[in-house]
Amino acid sequence: MKIRAITLFPKMFDCLNESIIGRAIKSGVLDFEAVDIRAYSKDKHQKCDDTPYGGGAGMVMTPQPIYDCINAVDPNHEYVRVYMSPKGERLSDGLCRTLSENENILLLCGHYEGVDQRVIDLCIDREISIGDYVLSGGELAALVVIDGVCRFVDGVLGSSVSHEDESFSDGLLEYPHYTRPPEFMGMKVPEVLLNGNHKEIDKFRKAQSEKLTAERRPDLLKVTDGESEVDGGH
Ligand code: SAH
Repeated sequence: MKIRAITLFPKMFDCLNESIIGRAIKSGVLDFEAVDIRAYSKDKHQKCDDTPYGGGAGMVMTPQPIYDCINAVDPNHEYVRVYMSPKGERLSDGLCRTLSENENILLLCGHYEGVDQRVIDLCIDREISIGDYVLSGGELAALVVIDGVCRFVDGVLGSSVSHEDESFSDGLLEYPHYTRPPEFMGMKVPEVLLNGNHKEIDKFRKAQSEKLTAERRPDLLKVTDGESEVDGGH
């Protein structure tokens, strides 16, 4: 998979070189680059923002550098072009899976008050939000999308089945985990997990999953035709 982040702050993506995503980049499963919008500005001071028409607080990112940057990275529109925006479709497990089916993803990160609407209308295929709150920039949101999506790309996680058992994969929150030691600060690992009876273990975990979901996210249990209402099913 090829991902390009279009941003004024490319260094914010340095953390992708760590851990699981870092390994995917090193092994070539993920081809990632953060592209600096400023390098495409035709302004003599490489300015990329200006005051909003109609007045109001803050600055707006100007269309020219973004337009030229996107067209340099993706001249033939081979990428799905996403603008990170609080006004976009809410990210979910289902949306991460859907996005992972794309070969090429471009993520435009806004800053300040956002970007000139004309560049969104001209260049962008879809808008994605990571939740109902406003961040100061799209970079952290893009990082969330990259991590959430890459987990579904073959070869990124150590074992190809490891994302199948997670929270939301079956419409439920995941059961709690335990590891060694068998007793810690006087607290014991549930007996059933130690006896090696896999049928019993599956039953116990399923019950824990259902209990946790009912307590914390009853909205996930409201299903229609066997599919979760929350992420639209997959
Ligand atoms: N004025 C805008 C918010 C701008 S925040 C509004 O009220 O809708 C600056 C940038 O941060 C945005 O352009 C967007 O790229 C990013 N951003 C902020 N909150 C976000 C969220 N919840 N999800 C995705 N991107 C977000």
